[in-house]
Amino acid sequence: MTTRIYQERQGQIHRKGKKPFALECDKESLAGAVSQRACVFCGSRVVLYPIADAVHLVHGPIGCAVYTWDIRGALSSGPELHRLSFSTDLQEKDVIFGGEKKLHAALIELIDRYQPKAAFVYSTCIVGIIGDDLEAVCKTVAAETGIPVLPVQSEGFKGNKRAGYEAACNAMFRLVGTGDISNISRHSINILGDFNLAGEIWLIREYFNRMGVEVVANITGDGRVDDIKRCHGAALNVVQCSGATMTLANLIKEKYGTPVIRVSYFGIEDMAESLYAVANHFKDPEMLAKAKEIVRQELEILLPTLKKYRAALTGKKAAIYVGGAFKAFSLVKAFRHLGMQVVMVGSQTGTKEDYQELQEITDEGTIIVDDSNPLELSSFLQEKEVDIFVGGVKERPIAYKLGIAFCDHNHERKEMLAGFTGMMNFAKEVYGSVMSPVWKLVPRKQPQSTQLRASVPACIAGL
Ligand code: SF4
Repeated sequence: MTTRIYQERQGQIHRKGKKPFALECDKESLAGAVSQRACVFCGSRVVLYPIADAVHLVHGPIGCAVYTWDIRGALSSGPELHRLSFSTDLQEKDVIFGGEKKLHAALIELIDRYQPKAAFVYSTCIVGIIGDDLEAVCKTVAAETGIPVLPVQSEGFKGNKRAGYEAACNAMFRLVGTGDISNISRHSINILGDFNLAGEIWLIREYFNRMGVEVVANITGDGRVDDIKRCHGAALNVVQCSGATMTLANLIKEKYGTPVIRVSYFGIEDMAESLYAVANHFKDPEMLAKAKEIVRQELEILLPTLKKYRAALTGKKAAIYVGGAFKAFSLVKAFRHLGMQVVMVGSQTGTKEDYQELQEITDEGTIIVDDSNPLELSSFLQEKEVDIFVGGVKERPIAYKLGIAFCDHNHERKEMLAGFTGMMNFAKEVYGSVMSPVWKLVPRKQPQSTQLRASVPACIAGL
């Protein structure tokens, strides 16, 4: 069949084995292609708002603030201020005369009412256009209230989601270095890039605690302002989801010399490697022995169950489209444990190095794609006769409309998928979805004719 792809997007798609590897990425989304990627503001919001004892105020029209806790259910073990969504609700009058007074009044009211440890103020498109001085208002309110009030320069139009991650990291970095770092252990880490979906960071913290490692700050799942203030005292930054938080790790490294390692808590090998990497960093044989013991104990429970699922799933095909490419590496390996083949893999924000690594670990013929859109994804899923699609809220309807099983591996899920427990849950979910009898009632849609339909723009060509 012919896969439908905009000509301008062809450089962002690679089929392994067809030609030497080359993939364009980290560019603006193609206008009209309806990218799966969200805006700069959304990027900063997903990183920051799990900080549970801060006020998060969206300075902009109410529509931007629709992105609430419901969309990414990051759990907190204490305060839940992050679950409330605040907006200055800019109206026509504010756009004409400026929104600074309204912002000032909103901040004073919120800080007075909720007594937060800090306030993050997000700039949206319209604020960038009318030129409100966020920095000045935040500085004034910080002086008046005595808490950090941090501008997040996340105007939606000024780049892609990655720029939002950077804006979030820059805002957080203003907190770093302002807390007391006495009494922090030599064997201490910060966990960066886990957002505590379904309580995952609690599981990961527990593994590290069992190894004798102190976790200073969760950045940002179940996050606290005071922990971030003192995170420069940790001996190591352990970064998952590097797209989102690597900028912060690099800033801390530059200023305080804290080393950084990249990890993933998804899948068997990567979870185990994460624990070993931390133990190896501290060059502590006892810690390494404890890490090995954790892995041994967990695998004793996990492997016999995986065997059962593998028997049913062997030979099935999977497609992956996620926010950051690092998660995709782990998923490719996780599917292999289930006897399944990944035939398409892509991400919204992968880097050249990420895609190079994906090319190395995937099988011949696998489609690798950057910043995709529903048209392409639908074509790939049908062309490759995929049995399950792994993605997030925007990918779910694509799968279901085509009669393909789906696994949510993104913000909205309620199931823990990290750690060894998460691998067990993942296997169960994949099995449940692929083998569900519902697919007998909703048969898979057959690929459309290879002829381009009249409604498809002329700039779309076959690949
Ligand atoms: S693109 Fe602009 S207007 Fe739209 S949600 Fe993002 S910040 Fe708001």
